[in-house]
Amino acid sequence: MIKYEDFRRGFEIVYKLFLPPVCYSCRAPVVEHGGFCSPCWQKIKFITPPYCDRLGIPFPYDPGCDFISPRALANPPFFERARGAFIYEDFGRSCIHQLKYGRQLHLVKPISTWMMAAGKDVLLDCDILIPIPLSWRRLWARRFNQATKLAENISKMRDIPISYHALQRIRHTRTQVGLAANQRAKNVSGAFSINLDYLDDIAGKNCLLVDDVFTSGATANACTKTLLKAGAKKVDILVAAIVCQQGPEVLIENPS
Ligand SMILES: [Zn+2]
Repeated sequence: MIKYEDFRRGFEIVYKLFLPPVCYSCRAPVVEHGGFCSPCWQKIKFITPPYCDRLGIPFPYDPGCDFISPRALANPPFFERARGAFIYEDFGRSCIHQLKYGRQLHLVKPISTWMMAAGKDVLLDCDILIPIPLSWRRLWARRFNQATKLAENISKMRDIPISYHALQRIRHTRTQVGLAANQRAKNVSGAFSINLDYLDDIAGKNCLLVDDVFTSGATANACTKTLLKAGAKKVDILVAAIVCQQGPEVLIENPS
């Protein structure tokens, strides 16, 4: 009997043989399967050091080590470190929208590959990946959770297990788009809980939350609080894109 995996591999070989490689975004011809064309690649604003060690927000210049952003200093997050692959604007935003609302699931592979590069340090000591769950209403409407799709590819490439059920969204929340930071925190407060049947997934573990976009950190903080309360050792977050809407960061030396 032909196994599904063999069938999939066979299909992939035939597909690559007969269909020319095209850019993941604009479908322009490219040299190899699985990439972006040069003009699209150049439009992505990748986040590279220097950045805030706590929030992953890029700094305008390199202040040396031990610097955190004023945002992290004013409102220290519950999670240890956030890391993102690119800035959520222009082309980066369009990539996320194509994945999330346009259901362009072929973008999962390149985006999660960039996430692995950006999250080298947080992946190093991670025991388990936890995609931030959607409410059943949103999951039903979208048919898939983009965070789960990204986490699944990272899990496959890095051989790190995923917890699908330990963290639950117990109530539907209105979209965070257009809300101020304090409204966002209020909106997601009490929205998450732990499924006690899966407590072993997180108790005593270094957890890595996975999501598509990091905006104010309200959702990541709400999830982190829930995980820490249930006995997680440490929580980091890895996202595809970080919203940097507050302009260049002013640098403050880390007092800790
Ligand atoms: Zn392109």
